[in-house]
Amino acid sequence: MTEVEKRRGAAPVPRDWTYAPAPESREIVALHERYGLFVGGEWLEPTETYTTVSPADEEPLATVAQATPAEVTHAVAVAREAFIDWSALPGSERAKYLFRIARILQERSREFAVLESLNGGKPIKESRDVDLPLAAAHFFYYAGWADKLEYAFPNREPRPLGVAGQIIPWNFPLLMLAWKIAPALATGNTVVLKPAETTPLTALLFCDVVCQAELPPGVVNIVTGDGAAGAALVDADVDKIAFTGSTEVGKAIQRRLAGTGKKLTLELGGKAANIVFDDAAIDQAVEGIVNGIYFNQGHVCCAGSRLFVQESVAEAVVDKLKRRMATLRVGDPLDKNTDVGAINSRQQLDKIEELVAAGRAEGAEIYQPPCRLPERGYWFAPTVFTNVAQSYRIAQEEIFGPVLSVLTFRTPDEAVEKANNTPYGLSAGVWTEKGSRILWMAERLRAGVVWANTYNRFDPASPFGGYKESGFGREGGRHGLAPYLAGAVQ
Ligand code: NAP
Ligand code: MG
Repeated sequence: MTEVEKRRGAAPVPRDWTYAPAPESREIVALHERYGLFVGGEWLEPTETYTTVSPADEEPLATVAQATPAEVTHAVAVAREAFIDWSALPGSERAKYLFRIARILQERSREFAVLESLNGGKPIKESRDVDLPLAAAHFFYYAGWADKLEYAFPNREPRPLGVAGQIIPWNFPLLMLAWKIAPALATGNTVVLKPAETTPLTALLFCDVVCQAELPPGVVNIVTGDGAAGAALVDADVDKIAFTGSTEVGKAIQRRLAGTGKKLTLELGGKAANIVFDDAAIDQAVEGIVNGIYFNQGHVCCAGSRLFVQESVAEAVVDKLKRRMATLRVGDPLDKNTDVGAINSRQQLDKIEELVAAGRAEGAEIYQPPCRLPERGYWFAPTVFTNVAQSYRIAQEEIFGPVLSVLTFRTPDEAVEKANNTPYGLSAGVWTEKGSRILWMAERLRAGVVWANTYNRFDPASPFGGYKESGFGREGGRHGLAPYLAGAVQ
């Protein structure tokens, strides 16, 4: 599809560095034409529907349910009924189901990876090598905790909350489902989960896994639909809402839940600083910068979207970065050679375009490597802005696209001050040879995760979450159990 063109100028990009197409077969996924609501282990015929498309070419993929408030209420009632038996099971029995789900996800990972790329636009090599292994790992990890809650919270009598309403975004559809469902089930809760409007299909395929694992009916319920279905879930008779998505919607949910006694965790946006010191291994840092912002087209809440480079190496870093960007292959998400896939939706593309236009208007200098974008579908070339001031919108607002803003600093203190000058606080990256400096920086950066000499690394055993407008509550690790438990566990 897209070829990297011969670069004009001095950059030493090989002239004929083209790759033969290597498409992953779509055949492995058998899509239904129409999906209902998965409630109580059965498919319920929906009253309203919409069509979900592939963002790479706008091809319609399936008709799915647009859950009404009445249908959401019904799903929650079914989950509450199922809670009675599920919460009474010994943890070791719950663990067996979670282990089964994890193994089935591994067995069917290729099928899930293809569907994830088809419906969401992310490159197959990412869904295959990142989303799927991590989703399975989360189920394995929390399966291990299910019978050890008394050890995780000794003498504090941990007990499940009841029904968890879970609302997830479109950037890591199956992985976010795993982050939500695995700890909830391990701790003895039942769930009603709403996937994002644009990416419902892997959650619907997951219902198949739930059946295959013979999970008792009603323990996992999936209701698809737009934001209105999410709002209905927030208002339904749930004991807890776990939300990942935009800060704006997160705030609205928090307002809605104030005074209701329902528990809440919010994992919201970010505008992470990726900080490169002059003693860093520059080539590795450039790989980390690329991974930090162009991974998943930048649709990553912890994306390293603000690059801070120490002034003395800024020119060299930006130069190497631009050369590296010219080798990124943008195109067909199902091609195994693709590095950067499609933007998830028209709406998201509009948002990226608006912010990039603002960056130009405010005076930043834009660079995009030459690449041919497919004509149909939603696409945006990898982009870097230099000459960016702290006050520009592109340095303040979450773009959620493949757009990097480069700023500079002179001293470690200045780096910390600039990095923390944001309403968000989800993640950060530090590149330096000095271990002591890494610790010094990590102590001062107001971010839930600080990566050192790497970026975008995830592990189910490691807690993840934010400060400030990036939300509260942690997912992953032992910490990820607490938000699903009552008793003195906090
Ligand atoms: P969003 O609207 O916050 O979507 C997150 C989830 O919440 C989706 O399932 C969404 O449904 C649902 N939702 C929307 N309105 C709701 C409401 N009033 N009550 C309950 N649930 C509701 O995010 P978005 O519109 O997809 O993306 C907008 C921006 O959010 C992005 O540009 C990015 O900056 C940020 N974002 C952050 C993350 C993250 O991981 N932290 C993930 C995605 C997006 P619909 O899918 O139907 O909207
Ligand atoms: Mg939305």
